[in-house]
Amino acid sequence: MQTLEKANAIINTIKNNIEKIGRQLRIIEVCGTHTVSIYRNGFHTLFKGYIDFISGPGCPVCVTHEGYIDNLIELAKMNYTIYTFGDLLKVPGKSMSLAEAKAEGAKIKIMYSPVDAIENIAEDEEAIIAAVGFETTVPAFALSLEKVLEKGLKNVKFACELKTIDQPLKVLLKDHIKVDGLILPGHVATILGVDGFRFVEEFKLPSVISGFEKYDILLSLLSLTQSILNNDFTVKNEYKRVVKKEGNTVAKRYIDRFFERTDAYFRGLGLIEGGGLRLKSEYSAFSVQLKYDYESLSNSACRCADVLTGKLKPFECPLFEKVCTPQTPKGACMVSQEGSCNAYFRFGKWK
Ligand code: SF4
Repeated sequence: MQTLEKANAIINTIKNNIEKIGRQLRIIEVCGTHTVSIYRNGFHTLFKGYIDFISGPGCPVCVTHEGYIDNLIELAKMNYTIYTFGDLLKVPGKSMSLAEAKAEGAKIKIMYSPVDAIENIAEDEEAIIAAVGFETTVPAFALSLEKVLEKGLKNVKFACELKTIDQPLKVLLKDHIKVDGLILPGHVATILGVDGFRFVEEFKLPSVISGFEKYDILLSLLSLTQSILNNDFTVKNEYKRVVKKEGNTVAKRYIDRFFERTDAYFRGLGLIEGGGLRLKSEYSAFSVQLKYDYESLSNSACRCADVLTGKLKPFECPLFEKVCTPQTPKGACMVSQEGSCNAYFRFGKWK
């Protein structure tokens, strides 16, 4: 059978399965890259009336709060050089973004990987690495700290706002949202493995680890609808070419060697116990103490918090498209290429 015919056959089976289930399904895609794939490929319109896609908290830029940006700007004012991934640049802080601070002369440099950044730090530079991301990126920060130790560098510190995926998902499923199934993040699963998502089974919800191509998404939706029909709550793996049962054991060892759990603040979900990672105490000399006033976070007109918890579609935000665009973002969900507001804006036909 040709690829197009195969795809059409899968689409028809998915729709037939949903008709047998007898209601529109609410499916959450945890990862921002899945959000983009769903909207880029038009699955939200293809399955209109069949599936309501809800974006989850797996976009690292989207869940990073403005307090972190404010801390980085304060540190830059103290003459540190901040090394950051480029997608954090436009995230609004309380008064300005890193990009605006850079335009005013703050020493903010874009890094392509933290390991690269370590290679480029000058001897007379006091550098701070902005460590943001989920378990997918944590091994790179672990490797970069290993490099710092090997080189005996004393002028490098890490500002950790690293996140874990399990705790926010538990909070989301327990307190915030009712869904019929989950598309689990393929990138994080590469590190954590299928076993890293077994906790989802306790919620008695079907779930599937998915790749990012359109065919991957279709196969994952097929798997999910079959699991829903069969009341099967076992985590399924439709990304077997990359994701193993036990994950990447080397990367996990690296994470455990340098990092330990800590509480972390997620936009939309608040402060979550064990939701983050910080450097272990033996490496505290390389860690920047960040100061947060959690009470004052997320008071802007931006509704990212509601978007990230499935309470609001991006186009329902009063600022969407009128004043908030990828060129003039008012919130992190529009800044990040993986943010749902950004995906809605770019791939249109959302109504
Ligand atoms: S459209 Fe803009 S302002 Fe509204 S929730 Fe999304 S990022 Fe925030």
